[in-house]
Amino acid sequence: MLDQDITLQRHVVLVVDDDPAQRLMLDETLTQINMNVHQAVNGAEALILFKQIKPDLVIMDIKMPVMDGFEACEKIRQMSEGKDIPVMLITGLDDHESIMRAFEVDATDFITKPVNWPILNHRILYLLKASQTLLALRDSESRLSQAQRISRLGNWEWQIKKNKFYWSDQVYQIFNLRPGQVKIDFLEFSSMCHPQDRDRVRQAMNNAMTHGEPYKLDHRIFLPDGSVRSIHTQGEAVMSPEGEPVSLQGTIQDISERKQAEERIHQLAFFDVLTGLPNREHFKQIAQEAIDSAADKENQVALMYLDLDEFKRLNDTLGHDIGDVLLKVISRTLSQYLRTSDTLVREERASSSTLSRLGDDEFAILLDSFRDKQQLEKFAQCVLERLGQTMVIEGQEYFITASMGIATYPEDGENVETLLKHADIAMVQAKKEGKNRLEFYTSRLNKNSKERLGLRSKLRSALEKDELMLYYQPQLSIASGMVVGMEALIRWRDPDRGMIPPGEFIPVAEESGLIMPIGDWVLRTACEQAVKWQQAGMAPIKMSVNLSSYQFRQQRFIHMVEATLDDAGLDSQYLELEMTESMIMQQVEKTIADLNDLKSLGVSLSIDDFGTGYSSMSYLKRFPLDTLKIDRSFVKDVDENQTDAEIVNAIIALASSLQLVTIAEGVEQEAQLNCLRDLGCDMVQGYHFSHPLPVDEAESYLAEMLPKATEPVRKKVF
Ligand code: C2E
Ligand code: CA
Ligand code: CA
Repeated sequence: MLDQDITLQRHVVLVVDDDPAQRLMLDETLTQINMNVHQAVNGAEALILFKQIKPDLVIMDIKMPVMDGFEACEKIRQMSEGKDIPVMLITGLDDHESIMRAFEVDATDFITKPVNWPILNHRILYLLKASQTLLALRDSESRLSQAQRISRLGNWEWQIKKNKFYWSDQVYQIFNLRPGQVKIDFLEFSSMCHPQDRDRVRQAMNNAMTHGEPYKLDHRIFLPDGSVRSIHTQGEAVMSPEGEPVSLQGTIQDISERKQAEERIHQLAFFDVLTGLPNREHFKQIAQEAIDSAADKENQVALMYLDLDEFKRLNDTLGHDIGDVLLKVISRTLSQYLRTSDTLVREERASSSTLSRLGDDEFAILLDSFRDKQQLEKFAQCVLERLGQTMVIEGQEYFITASMGIATYPEDGENVETLLKHADIAMVQAKKEGKNRLEFYTSRLNKNSKERLGLRSKLRSALEKDELMLYYQPQLSIASGMVVGMEALIRWRDPDRGMIPPGEFIPVAEESGLIMPIGDWVLRTACEQAVKWQQAGMAPIKMSVNLSSYQFRQQRFIHMVEATLDDAGLDSQYLELEMTESMIMQQVEKTIADLNDLKSLGVSLSIDDFGTGYSSMSYLKRFPLDTLKIDRSFVKDVDENQTDAEIVNAIIALASSLQLVTIAEGVEQEAQLNCLRDLGCDMVQGYHFSHPLPVDEAESYLAEMLPKATEPVRKKVF
């Protein structure tokens, strides 16, 4: 069967012999089996011809003038294209020495004179078949090693009895060693593992051997230069028929880049870059822990909200560089002061204070216990006085004051959110009363809550009276410059107050439970709109819809999405759901299951405002996500600010290692776009391309960008 395949192809054969009669015989025999025969009269001529015709097989006499067959064969083997081509040498009968030489110069086979012509054809076909199999194997090996190189994946085997490791080239590369440079046995391998990980690795290997349990683990290794690399390894045991472990086999993948990106993002997610202080998210965590433990011990907790007076004006007039230095000096001054004097007010010496930078010129101090209000007030006053002292920076004197609001647990609130809100309200009051002073929160200050109640009932009727609407903002692919999606953003036009931004009414909707009917309405309207545009003949694009955590936590949510898609008649591949990090980082195991259910509907899942929240990276890779939306705050100065560019870079690296698409939001300038393109971001969204548009304007925009045609087409935006 295979022989037939071989003869069907027209192979090129190079015949080399100084004897014309012999050449003729060979030519005839080979032409009978459909070979394309070329002839040369000696080794030297054969080499020239070899390069030109690239034969599939060489048949060559040994004894020839100018250059004999041995030398020619040796030279063919030295050419890169000649390594794997079968070379058959023709030797004298029983010429032992020649046969040995033929072997030495790496000939593939030999035939003896006089030539047995009927057998020759079969031998040649056999040689060609073997050579093709070999080439196919080489090809697949090289493809495999290419794939392994790209994915930084190598494979290994440990032969237990011999205590010998076999490593693929890629594994050597990961360990920064030349293939074969050192002989690897178990001890040697062990010594390359990070001491803190060694036991885990051994344990896993042991388990695999004794219980046949396959394993997967991340650990660190040392490179010869002492640097550390992170790898992901998988292994399993190969057992003998008697059930004895014979070897362990597995793979190793270099995940250092992903680990670094994870660490960087972790740092960025928890600490303020400028001052190194815990950021708002981190502070909230610490404060919640303090509250929980105070609840057990019946302690009081104080939260002080500090806002620098006139700082914005200072920043604008002196420039941001000086502003940044001032902020650093202030945070250092405050940290030092707290370290030396907070024991003044604390009940127990073991407890502590935490300073955080919440935002631009806003700081917060948490005291995890205090004795009484007078003492707390005295301490807070000292903080303000310490801040109010003159600061000297580069020979210049600066005078900075702050206003402070204080809220305490349990009196003013039971959780961090409430305490922060109340301390903020008190701080605003301190500003109103003339700045550089402090104010305790009292419920009297919270007239705000009344307004909120008003908003709530208005929102309810807005939903009934159809005052809510969706705006749509285009999302573009950087590579093609074309529209690939729209994000639906809710709007509320109140007849009295005009447009109320979602940032103001969504929290009210969430508090009151109104977010459920509103969320349902948003999803339905967006899906129906997507179908309308498709029906109008526009190229189908994705519709992104924002979810609130309250919606997502509902039992019926997945069914609701399914039913809404069904009713609207929208193919699920065109719906993307946007969630925030904080939404999915709760009850992680359940969330993973829920997200998998959602995903099985065929919709895409996206993380909104990525980089601002608390993301546990080990979980992130377990969520079935499609897209990371890089938060606007990093995009804002990405073209000017090194740190922001680094953050975006780290997020993109992380996304790419998790095979997620990245989209940058809030792109307002060409320079940002260019920078994002350089960093390898996939998509963009922002005012630079289009503001969110009311439905009719969105429609005209799309009609222009996705013109109607028998074949829907998209037009380039940039
Ligand atoms: P988001 O999901 O991060 O939406 C992006 C916000 O950035 C939108 O604000 C949009 O108008 C704004 N934006 C877009 N491009 C630019 C730009 O180039 N520069 C700047 N500075 N801003 C830009 P919007 O519409 O006010 O929405 C605010 C937030 O309200 C949204 O943030 C989202 O969290 C929430 N939201 C909006 N619609 C819905 C909804 O239907 N359901 C839920 N649960 N939340 C929604
Ligand atoms: Ca969004
Ligand atoms: Ca966002």
